[in-house]
Amino acid sequence: DHTLDIEQIRRDFPVLDQLVNGKPLVYFDNAATNQKPLPVIDALTRYYEGYNANIHRGIHYLAEKATAAFEASRRAIQQFVNARHWEEIIFTYGTTDGINLVAQTYGRRFLNEGDEIIITTMEHHSNIVPWQMLCEERGCILKVIPVDDNGELILEEYEKLLTPRTKFVSVVHVSNALGTINPVKTIIDMAHAVGAVVLIDGAQATSHVDIDVQALDTDFYVFSAHKLYGPTGMGVLYGKKALLDDMPPYRGGGEMIKEVTFEKTTYNEIPYKFEAGTPNIADVVAVKTALEYMATLGKENIAAHEHDLLQYATAQLSEIEGLRIIGQAKNKISVVSFVMDGIHHQDIGVILDQLGIAVRTGHHCTQPLMRRFNIAGTTRASFAVYNTKDEIDRLVQGLHRVKKMMS
Ligand code: PMP
Repeated sequence: DHTLDIEQIRRDFPVLDQLVNGKPLVYFDNAATNQKPLPVIDALTRYYEGYNANIHRGIHYLAEKATAAFEASRRAIQQFVNARHWEEIIFTYGTTDGINLVAQTYGRRFLNEGDEIIITTMEHHSNIVPWQMLCEERGCILKVIPVDDNGELILEEYEKLLTPRTKFVSVVHVSNALGTINPVKTIIDMAHAVGAVVLIDGAQATSHVDIDVQALDTDFYVFSAHKLYGPTGMGVLYGKKALLDDMPPYRGGGEMIKEVTFEKTTYNEIPYKFEAGTPNIADVVAVKTALEYMATLGKENIAAHEHDLLQYATAQLSEIEGLRIIGQAKNKISVVSFVMDGIHHQDIGVILDQLGIAVRTGHHCTQPLMRRFNIAGTTRASFAVYNTKDEIDRLVQGLHRVKKMMS
């Protein structure tokens, strides 16, 4: 059994300790963003109170201190994903930003008319729309791996989609809408066998499963800090050095240049080539603290606790008549997405909110996936390390209340 003291951990998250509509808050919207522990909040305060300064260009004390903290965060992230080189870690504003960066630089430079890009039915809109925009501009063709009734990718169909024309494969590591953990290593190997380049959207994976970009041999891996107990507005693009070196820059501006004249500008080395302008310094600095916080708890302990919660919630919710869980993959993170006969998800969300329970309702930025299951949306409860079985009991009671009120 896991060894975490959840009551102790809850005290690290001040936001959890409040009444919502007169009831103790139950926060089950962790897949949208999880809450921040005190050490992360303190890191932000310490930065702004102690050494706020613009980085890299300054020679004064504060600028050097800020630069050192900023670059220390890059090393911490390198270690977190097990990248070979620190230059392979590019700071972005989030997962969405990272995918757009790759589509707009790698995609526009290297993908041509008739080239095929493969995604899946369970992608977040942020891993669909940038590729559609690229296809429209470059004349590429988008292909989609289907999912089965359990919410798992159908790999035999993927195999059939792979051809010598496949140039890029972009797949979500863990589905935000269903919780499915995809077999990304297999997906990457199959793509590489036809010479395609692969991006993995790790937005939902980083706080739940171990990430090792070298073991995966992925070409790109993107994620957001705010889904791993870190701040909003900060994300990471990992890319293999050789690919990043060959890619043109994304945004033009300060910091990403070597020399500027009106006749010709030369660009900086990676990672700075992709980091134009003043970055999100405070949040980059604080993400290191978030990684340390998770490491202190132990990622395998976090995963074990969340797995307990998932099993408990799945069992309890399955007993509610007329409730159907969408997404029953064998390999899942702690996300339970469900529909209830004759009751709209929005009504469920509003009633639960009155009871102090925060869930997400709707399409979860995965409209094609909802269409695949012939539903408009779901109610989604997603659990983090600080959640408890008592809170799941409150959700179950709340859903009985919903049924009574709506029938
Ligand atoms: N992909 C997945 C699977 C996600 O869950 C999310 C966030 N909901 C994103 C991409 C986009 O992340 P962000 O909004 O932080 O850019």
